[in-house]
Amino acid sequence: MLNELDSIYTELIAEHSRSTENKHHLKLPTVVQKGRNPSCGDEITLELQVEEGKIKDASFTGVGCAISQASTSIMIDLIKGESVEKAQHLADLFLKMIKGEITEDDELEELDEAMALKNISHMPARVKCAVLSWRTLLETLKTK
Ligand SMILES: [Zn+2]
Repeated sequence: MLNELDSIYTELIAEHSRSTENKHHLKLPTVVQKGRNPSCGDEITLELQVEEGKIKDASFTGVGCAISQASTSIMIDLIKGESVEKAQHLADLFLKMIKGEITEDDELEELDEAMALKNISHMPARVKCAVLSWRTLLETLKTK
């Protein structure tokens, strides 16, 4: 499935899917939210430490395919240290990219490494894997 993506992006996704840098428990999570994608068997638990409207720290645990794990790890790199509003904005942008509603690279620049997942929008079977963590994030922040 990964060969359908550009090779640089494939490498980036493979790297992130193997990375354990963001895969651990937080000492002081203020929110813990589970997300599941039954169609693929992806399961993640997102842990955030939100203080004064800012995501001070973030991590995840879970199992699943390379796309779901890479997407989660990339997302955590992006949102760590950002305000809740910024994180919500990035998640909205990511979902629009995957739905194919925003295709211009200029408009997607803020997504940085998450842009590697852009072509997933042409792979319907993998869309749920890619959006799992971002949807879970939005749910998490909504309950704050
Ligand atoms: Zn998956």
